[in-house]
Amino acid sequence: MNNRLYGNLIFELSHKGRRGFTLPANDFGEHELPEWTQREKAAALPECDEMTVVRHYTNHSQNNFGVNNGFYPLGSCTMKYNPVINEEMAALPLFQQLHPAQPESTCQGVLQMMYGLQHALTAITGLSAFTLNPFAGAHGELTGLMLIRAYHHEKGEDQRVKVIVPDSAHGTNPASAAVCGLEVVEVKSTADGMVDVDDLRALLDNEVAAVMMTNPNTLGLFERQIPEIAQLVHESGALLYYDGANLNPMLGVCRPGDMGFDVMHINLHKTFSTPHGGGGPGCGPVGVISAMEHLLPSTVVKEDDHYTLRRNHGQEGQTPISVGANAGNVGVMIRAYTYILSLGRENLKMVGPLATLNANYIKEALKDDYLLPIDTVCKHEFVFDGLKDKSNGVTTMDVAKRLLDYGYHAPTIYFPLLFHESLMIEPTENESKETIDAFIACMHRIAQEARTEPDTVKSAPHNTPIGRVDDVLAAKHPILTYRQMTTEEG
Ligand SMILES: *Cc1c(COP(=O)(O)O)cnc(C)c1O
Repeated sequence: MNNRLYGNLIFELSHKGRRGFTLPANDFGEHELPEWTQREKAAALPECDEMTVVRHYTNHSQNNFGVNNGFYPLGSCTMKYNPVINEEMAALPLFQQLHPAQPESTCQGVLQMMYGLQHALTAITGLSAFTLNPFAGAHGELTGLMLIRAYHHEKGEDQRVKVIVPDSAHGTNPASAAVCGLEVVEVKSTADGMVDVDDLRALLDNEVAAVMMTNPNTLGLFERQIPEIAQLVHESGALLYYDGANLNPMLGVCRPGDMGFDVMHINLHKTFSTPHGGGGPGCGPVGVISAMEHLLPSTVVKEDDHYTLRRNHGQEGQTPISVGANAGNVGVMIRAYTYILSLGRENLKMVGPLATLNANYIKEALKDDYLLPIDTVCKHEFVFDGLKDKSNGVTTMDVAKRLLDYGYHAPTIYFPLLFHESLMIEPTENESKETIDAFIACMHRIAQEARTEPDTVKSAPHNTPIGRVDDVLAAKHPILTYRQMTTEEG
């Protein structure tokens, strides 16, 4: 149904010598760029007039799907609406025109904003201090694990090289531990989807640096045994890490710091509404207990009404932890802080309960047609194991593709790995009852189609600009630039 034929018929838009600008002759004579900074050959960039560029990007943007297009129940990703006021604040010229290297006395406003955000995050989480420096959730995990290593190092416990991660964890947890040079040990889940405390107890010894937990966990279930787990972990001398990417249902309801977590990261680009997807932009602040504050890579501090970005230069003979140049992703911080302040303390407390209500409402309405392996009250998200009636061979992939035809973004599929046909739904708190009811009706309709006309579902999508892509080929032979396409594929 793609009627944007222009973009389809003409693939190569570049023409030698075509330009979208004209510059007046300059009267400064020869430039004096040092030779080593000069290109040897002209950059191989497409050459286009302005209108072609505008059409190219406008057409691309229309082939995309975002929260601003429609319902986006992508489990574990918290694709919540980003209010326009966030964009207005981030676009204020006095924020936008800042340079990261300008003198501190000239950027007190942005430092005050960061200080306020740090403070809000400590109040929301119950931890003692935050750095806003990391650029993503996974980057926050890596930062947190580096802090944990440094903490054990200070105590002379360098033998602590293992990180315990639940089998239901987000893939970034074991990946971050491995990147940090730590050894990953998996702890099992019980049949009802919780961390198996007996299994955990047996794994704890003086080589364990940390246990990473997600709560609510990746199945959307609240881990009820955190106090016992925290006690066990601390008795063994290890630290308890909280993957706070799933903080949304807990906002203002309960605090990781009060539950015994020592280190955590937050995804501002999930819980705090700043937009994300396609790899950026993000911000993964890391919070710690007071005993670890001195290790944080950078924090904004206030002394006599003056704000300073304090970098950690480490103690004598120690390498300081550094996780990125400059202050971090400031635009994301502005949006998150605007979101927190515009909701305010009371409304922030409604986020979690509403997200939880929406998820449970969908789960209950659909469990007649979709297989619910763990049938209990969930938090902000839950996981189906595909259609209940699999007799026609319609898979989770088929259901997800068919949803695209009806104008919905697909839920997260084939994750978590605990089930074969995982379909993970997270509606967030923002959606109206009408939107949610329409989605439920659509899911029922697809289940009906799977019974009566399975081929329609198996060959979906039918209405999107691009049909079903070959995932395996795309992963094994990625074409990452248009040039590769034009030269290799003709
Ligand atoms: C999204 C997510 C992450 C990773 O965050 P990124 O910003 O994508 O690096 C980690 N853990 C959980 C539970 C998540 O949902």
